[in-house]
Amino acid sequence: MVQSDFQNTSYYFARIAVISNILYMQKRLEELPKLAEEARKENKKYFVNLRKRTPKNLDYVMQELHDKEFKKTDCLTCGNCCKTTSPIFTDSDTARISKHLKMKVADFQSKYLERDSDDFMVLKTAPCSFFDESDNTCFIYDVRPKACSEYPHTNRKKFIQITDLTIENTTVCPAAYNIVEALKVKIPYEYNTKKTRR
Ligand code: SF4
Ligand code: SF4
Repeated sequence: MVQSDFQNTSYYFARIAVISNILYMQKRLEELPKLAEEARKENKKYFVNLRKRTPKNLDYVMQELHDKEFKKTDCLTCGNCCKTTSPIFTDSDTARISKHLKMKVADFQSKYLERDSDDFMVLKTAPCSFFDESDNTCFIYDVRPKACSEYPHTNRKKFIQITDLTIENTTVCPAAYNIVEALKVKIPYEYNTKKTRR
């Protein structure tokens, strides 16, 4: 095989791999709301129990599960967080992004943001105004809000404090759903229940 044939074949297989990953993710996203709702009750019970006696190494376990999941999950095949939810824009996020866009902070805020019922600055529209739906990329990736760079927060310090938020995120983020399912296998509910003596 001459080199150009080899390159064409490699490109062809790479394209097939990309397309099959996208189709796989589309199917996951279609199934996710139902799966997450079915798991909600069990997850609530699980985290209530985990909060009562939190393993000392929980953050370490979460970091491991998070890293393992994001080795196989490519956000560029998904983009569901950018399509459906808004990050919180802190003052420093707003200042940084406005500067990047060469806009005045007040103009940036009035064009893109509004205050929600919890008094946080959030996007006016979904999908996000900075989301490119053609390839799931972010126009302001290098200066995006901190909440975006940390989403779905499954490797956050003191993870135990954000278990309710995580249950909500399992309805949006297939990676968060998988991480919670993996956590329940790694630290089973029974591990944390008091053993009764005979
Ligand atoms: S700012 Fe970028 S990363 Fe954040 S929601 Fe919008 S498109 Fe997604
Ligand atoms: S963080 Fe989750 S919801 Fe957002 S793009 Fe990645 S897998 Fe999808």
